[in-house]
Amino acid sequence: MNDTRPGALLPGESDYLRIAVEAARQGRSEGGIPIGAALVHAGKVLGTGYNKRVQLASPIRHGETDCLENIGRLPASVYAESTMITTLSPCDMCTGAILLYKIPRVIIGENRSFLGGEELLRSRGVQVVVVDDESCVAMMTEFIAALPALWNEDIGVTD
Ligand SMILES: [Zn+2]
Repeated sequence: MNDTRPGALLPGESDYLRIAVEAARQGRSEGGIPIGAALVHAGKVLGTGYNKRVQLASPIRHGETDCLENIGRLPASVYAESTMITTLSPCDMCTGAILLYKIPRVIIGENRSFLGGEELLRSRGVQVVVVDDESCVAMMTEFIAALPALWNEDIGVTD
């Protein structure tokens, strides 16, 4: 039997998280911010993305939004049956994109480094699963310690 409790990963979803982590690591290897994402529909990874603030000097290419942009246009019906996997709790912008496209399920690697719009997602009926994955925590911990100013810029901290 599959574990269908709220908060539990479905079969295969840990593999999708690994794919998002690999995307995040690619970003870090390019000097960027290590946050990655993947969008999955019917068991197929439609595409991946990672934060490109540094690489593209972009204020809007976060892991999730870069993933959506890389995939390009999709029918509304596909978003409505898809799962977004992200290595870090989605910020307000990415939370908004998830709500806009009515993506019904979000898998989050961790939310210790940053807590985004999870409550808003839940309040709008989105299934939110927080894995609390150690490799995701370690990736962000290393990055924030190494480049604190870059991290603050990414989350809109004015200090
Ligand atoms: Zn974001």
